[in-house]
Amino acid sequence: MYRSVFIKKVLFDQTAYYCIEKKPYEACGFLLGSLEADTVYADEFIPVANVAENAAVSFMMDPAAMIPIVTNISTNKRLIVGVLHSHPTAAAIPSAEDLQSAWLHIPSHWIMSLQHDGIIDLQAYHYFENNLHDASGRTDSFSKIRYTSLALNIYDN
Ligand SMILES: [Zn+2]
Repeated sequence: MYRSVFIKKVLFDQTAYYCIEKKPYEACGFLLGSLEADTVYADEFIPVANVAENAAVSFMMDPAAMIPIVTNISTNKRLIVGVLHSHPTAAAIPSAEDLQSAWLHIPSHWIMSLQHDGIIDLQAYHYFENNLHDASGRTDSFSKIRYTSLALNIYDN
C-alpha cells in the first residue's frame, strides 16, 4: 500500500499554471516518475485534453490523444505513476464519478482544487477495490472503489 508522494516545487507550479489556464474546465493528465517501496515520486506532467461532455465538473482523457502519449512513454521507458486532474469549483476530494472511472492499476490519483481564489490545494490518493463480504463470507456481486490519502511532500530540488 502506498503511503506518500513527492513532487518537485517546479513541477507543482507547472501543473498549477496548467490547471488554472484550463479554468473553468477540469484539467487532466499523467504524472511520470518512479516508485520506491511505499512512495511515489513524480517528476514530469503530461497534460491530456479533457473531452468529457460536462468538462466543468468531470474529466475524460481524450482517447485519441492518449494513444501516442502512452506509446511515447513506453518507448522512453518512462513510468506512469499518477493521474492528476483539477476541481475548479470543488474540494480536492474524489467525486463518486472519479471513483467509477478509476485507473486502479495506477498507484496515485492527484486532485488539485482551485475552488478558493489564490489557493491551490493539491491532494493525493491511492484508489483500491474493496470486495464486500456478506455474513456468510461470500463475496458480494458488486465491489466498491475506496481510497486512502497519501502524504504529500513538495520539495525544492
Ligand atoms: Zn474529480
